[in-house]
Amino acid sequence: MERLPLVSTSPYSTDRNSKDGQAGVPDVSAGPSRPPALTPMFEQYFAVKDAHPDCLLFYRMGDFYELFFEDASIAAAALDITLTKRGQSGGEPVPMCGVPHHAAEGYLARLIRQGHKVAICEQVEDPAEAKKRGSKAVVRRDVVRIVTPGTLTEDSLLEARANNYLAALAEANGAMGLARLDLSTGEFVTEPVVLETLGSALARIAPSELLLPDRLDGRTDMDPVLLDWRTVLTVLPAARFDSENARRRLEDRLGVSTLDGHGGFDRAEVAAAGALLDYVDLTQKGAMPTLVALRRRSLGGTMEIDPATRRNLEITRSMTGDRKTSLLGVIDRTVTGGGARLLAARLSAPLTDAAAIDRRLETVAFFVDRERARVDVRAGLREAPDLERAATRLSLGRGGPRDLAAVRDALRAAGGLRTILTASGGLTDPPWGVLEIEEDLGHHSSLIDLLDRALAPDLPVLARDGGFVATGFAPELDRLRTLRDESRRLIAGLQTKYQSETGVSSLKIKHNNVLGYFVEVTALHADKLMGQESFIHRQTMANAGRFTTVELGELERDLSQAADKALAVEQRVFDELAAAIGAEAGPIALAAAALARTDLAAALADLAVERGYVRPEVSPEPVFSIDGGRHPVVEANAGPDDPPFVANDCDLGDDRRLWLITGPNMAGKSTFLRQNALIALLAQAGCYVPARRAVIGIVDRLFSRVGAADDLARGRSTFMVEMVETAAILNQASERSLVILDEIGRGTATYDGLSIAWATLEHLHEASRCRALFATHYHELTALQGRLSALACHTMRIREWQDRIVFLHEVAPGAADRSYGIHVAKLAGLPDAVIARSEEVLKRLESGEQSSAASRIIDDLPLFQAVARREAPSVAAEPSAVEAHLSDVDPDALTPREALDLVYTLRRLLLDKTTAQ
Ligand code: ATP
Repeated sequence: MERLPLVSTSPYSTDRNSKDGQAGVPDVSAGPSRPPALTPMFEQYFAVKDAHPDCLLFYRMGDFYELFFEDASIAAAALDITLTKRGQSGGEPVPMCGVPHHAAEGYLARLIRQGHKVAICEQVEDPAEAKKRGSKAVVRRDVVRIVTPGTLTEDSLLEARANNYLAALAEANGAMGLARLDLSTGEFVTEPVVLETLGSALARIAPSELLLPDRLDGRTDMDPVLLDWRTVLTVLPAARFDSENARRRLEDRLGVSTLDGHGGFDRAEVAAAGALLDYVDLTQKGAMPTLVALRRRSLGGTMEIDPATRRNLEITRSMTGDRKTSLLGVIDRTVTGGGARLLAARLSAPLTDAAAIDRRLETVAFFVDRERARVDVRAGLREAPDLERAATRLSLGRGGPRDLAAVRDALRAAGGLRTILTASGGLTDPPWGVLEIEEDLGHHSSLIDLLDRALAPDLPVLARDGGFVATGFAPELDRLRTLRDESRRLIAGLQTKYQSETGVSSLKIKHNNVLGYFVEVTALHADKLMGQESFIHRQTMANAGRFTTVELGELERDLSQAADKALAVEQRVFDELAAAIGAEAGPIALAAAALARTDLAAALADLAVERGYVRPEVSPEPVFSIDGGRHPVVEANAGPDDPPFVANDCDLGDDRRLWLITGPNMAGKSTFLRQNALIALLAQAGCYVPARRAVIGIVDRLFSRVGAADDLARGRSTFMVEMVETAAILNQASERSLVILDEIGRGTATYDGLSIAWATLEHLHEASRCRALFATHYHELTALQGRLSALACHTMRIREWQDRIVFLHEVAPGAADRSYGIHVAKLAGLPDAVIARSEEVLKRLESGEQSSAASRIIDDLPLFQAVARREAPSVAAEPSAVEAHLSDVDPDALTPREALDLVYTLRRLLLDKTTAQ
């Protein structure tokens, strides 16, 4: 048993609990303290547990997986199941809890979702074998699989519409490589990374588990990037990332003598990919899916999107982590898991090659133009099971009869698609993408036919339950089944025979797990059978007697042998069918990918037709011209009573590549900025876009700085986050980039903010020379229009009406005269007194704009006037006793003595009032 030192080599568990301050996953690596005197069973338990210190151990006992000691306490709390005790160990009761093995997947799913790893320890020998070693011998057990978040394959543990990546990061020769593997589909890809692009690569992949050599963990330059991934990090000894071992392992696994034919991989990439295979070997105990190939993702082939931009634009997840309200959720009309996963992958990594983008768009256009084909293809695909995942499960040795049927049905659906494509007339002069689909869907009729003949109509989940092979497929199986059924029929016939032979009409032949088949008569008739030689007494119950006969025993043996043999034949058939599918792994993977591409193209076409999206024109020139663009998410989320979304143009031609957008709050500036970024992203992902017309020059990097939130985990204030994001843009944006900047310099003093925004705008214009949309409330910036030749000022139109403003959501050339912030504050329900006071302050500030002492003007204002006005009673109040007394006094008529008395009197009146209160 190989020890899996996931944690013991690094303080990972403790790290993530303390660093992040999260509730996190309890550290089980310390393991239970081993009691001094152990029963043989616990000896075995501890041997297994010691080898898997960071996992919860599911220890198989009969029909249950049991957990003991600390594992039991953790699992009972995590699963909300009862914590019990089992005997004693070292004089102490042993905490225990368990889950039934047939329902284990549901419990596993919950534990994995909470960040635990689970080692599944099964009985690996027949208990009868163990008994031969002595009555106290413990059945041999071993861990058959370690379930971790990155190595899931079961449908019940996976999200059907999302990939589940296990990723590894490695370093060699000072360079870094990142590899990812989806164990549920066999997708295996590497890419070179540098520290600056690592964050965006990880954000694009969003791994469920990230393997990291202990050498890189805790390196200060890595820390900020890894912070977002702490909860999915598995730290391993650096030796597991050795690039030479990795190369050998990869060549061996891919069945090639050299990796060179698969693309020129860096040593770091090889090390990362090798570490993935090593980890899969460790956790899956040797089971490995069919890896069709190892692909290399080249640098520059896709649009670079940093994590902040990805988050801000809510591409695959909204700010709250929800898929449904993200761009992906809103445009996803795919009907298969494979199609949905492909859409997510394409949106996460839009292309930068205009020709490749056009090929994708052509395929969508094909389905836009052919409504019949689109509808039929989508109807056909709805019936298609997840081919990728079913075939991968079978290749891992983890599939069941239903996976065989899934492969058959999906391949049949693939054949159906070919027929539809031919019938649509599309194959006479098809676009390249459709031709490729047609070719990749392939011809699988012999495999479909084999599975059709082999599989029964109703299929069990597990092969070991039997009953899934169709009658007529395996003659030997049919014979055994007849024998089994015949024995059952003969046993049933014996009942009538014994009834007449004994004259006991109530005699029954029954079955239970302890005795097997037996003859049962009531206690009244038991004596009668006792006297007969052919009936052998087995059991006396309170009101019944149980017997067997030689004849019954023989029939039962035949029956059970036939059933066992039938099961063995079924298992053999299963293995043969799985092997037949395995032999076709390559063509099946191509068919699965073609199914996904067809689903996606038809789904995007459906979306385009229904929502009025157009095919974008993608150009290598640095242009950006959108007519009537709309925000895909805002538009989709509008309710039936909401006013229609107002479309807007955007033209970032060479002489106006930098738009400065001013306008009131709530007028739609952010929406406009985002919609243009999303249109570029959709176009390069190969989707139609929400616009009347769109011409997009390839964007190499997309940047967005919108909204403001602090990042407490990194110890960054709101303003600091804003500046870090701005710095990234100014340092990295090139002439081919598209930048959207919403409100730079908002979180600091007015003049500081204005100065930063001013200089940023100049830098974008002079140094970056990128296409950019810059929204601001600093109207002073519009003065730059004369000085920066490619700067164009635009504003959001509004209409003032009866002391109110109406947002028209229209972008027009020009500059806004003011922000209407106070109007919006009023709409938001700020107290009247605050609104009134704000208006006064604003008026004074505006009139004193030229003065350098604006602050003095504010100081001069009666600060609490508004409050005083609000609190002033509407009816004049009664004068107080002091006031009344004072008003009666004539100061000029007072002598010094009377004046002193007056002071005493007033003071007494005041004290009286205070006491009375
Ligand atoms: P602030 O300056 O306060 O951040 P803003 O100018 O950026 O405001 P947005 O947040 O873009 O304004 O938009 C405000 C609201 O107006 C949005 O919630 C959206 O529903 C609506 N809106 C924006 N643009 C349009 C449009 N083109 N058509 C219809 N509704 C729109």
